Amino acid sequence: MKRIHQLQERLGEARLEALVVSRLINIRYLSGFTGTAGLLVLTPDRATFYTDGRYTDRARAELQEGIELVVDTHAWKRALSDLPTGRVGFESEHITVHQLDWIREHTADRVEWVPTRGWVEDLRIRKDPEEWATMREAQRLLEQVLGEVLGLLEPGKTTEWDLAVELEYRLKRAGAEGVSFDPIIASGAQSAIPHATSRRVPIPPNTVLLVDVGARYRGYCSDMTRTFWVGPEPPDPTFKRVYQTVREAQEAALKSLSPGLLARIPDEKAREVLRREQLEEYYTHGLGHGVGLEIHEAPRLSVFAEDHETLEPGMVVTVEPGVYLSGQFGVRIEDMVVLTETGVDNLTTFPRELQVL
Ligand code: ZN
Ligand code: ZN
Repeated sequence: MKRIHQLQERLGEARLEALVVSRLINIRYLSGFTGTAGLLVLTPDRATFYTDGRYTDRARAELQEGIELVVDTHAWKRALSDLPTGRVGFESEHITVHQLDWIREHTADRVEWVPTRGWVEDLRIRKDPEEWATMREAQRLLEQVLGEVLGLLEPGKTTEWDLAVELEYRLKRAGAEGVSFDPIIASGAQSAIPHATSRRVPIPPNTVLLVDVGARYRGYCSDMTRTFWVGPEPPDPTFKRVYQTVREAQEAALKSLSPGLLARIPDEKAREVLRREQLEEYYTHGLGHGVGLEIHEAPRLSVFAEDHETLEPGMVVTVEPGVYLSGQFGVRIEDMVVLTETGVDNLTTFPRELQVL
């Protein structure tokens, strides 16, 4: 209930009688409910979850203690009629124009609807030790299964799609809920596309293989990228040079991470290294992003981050510089780390040195 209490305090500061939380992932974070229909209403001294009969048993099993459950075929209408009179907040980034019209219609003059932004997301940004442990396990499962899957590779025969499918299947068998996003298994020139899709084409011998994958475990995501050389011939010298530079860039960024730091600094550190090798122009995205219940969430680690965006203990972020030479190959190396009170705890243990498969 700590998370709910923090929001209840904020209600007072914002002079709101209640907050309606309708975004499902935020409901899960606050209440534990993992179903796909319902809404959570917070007043300064109560938390009530509304859902319909399909979810009665699930809600009873999952809802945290202290949250009241109301089951009604017309859950939204019921929740609206229970609302106190006065100013009520809603999640303005997660409600459609139509829904807003509808809730206004059903509350008439009784409720003044006040848009709120990021109230729950602001809490989600800092993970607690239990969340770190869950994400560490999501990463551990991923590394274990990726190791197995890479062992299946037969150059010239195995397709990108084969590896993507095997990864998903084996993750589920190993105890994960599945992948946290469609795996990116990209060989040859396809690796130069930062968000490539895995194709049903064989991975040829003597080429680059970029693998960006994640597992979902108890709702939480992991995220990692490694770039390999597929043998039997030794790695191409240009590729080797780019790989070493990206690795150095990642190292520089990782070393700079510390609580209190401006969120744009680590990206600047990575860029300095790439610039020295005339590779900065081929680095076409920011350094990293927050991870949690969603694969991409706040904060962003980018030179475009503003002065008020700083790193704080408890944040889980990726560090993933990349260089993409169109028509040739791409290199990206991505780790996922927790910011602690004193520095960082890297959740990724998979080797970063260039590996030949
Ligand atoms: Zn990734
Ligand atoms: Zn990522």
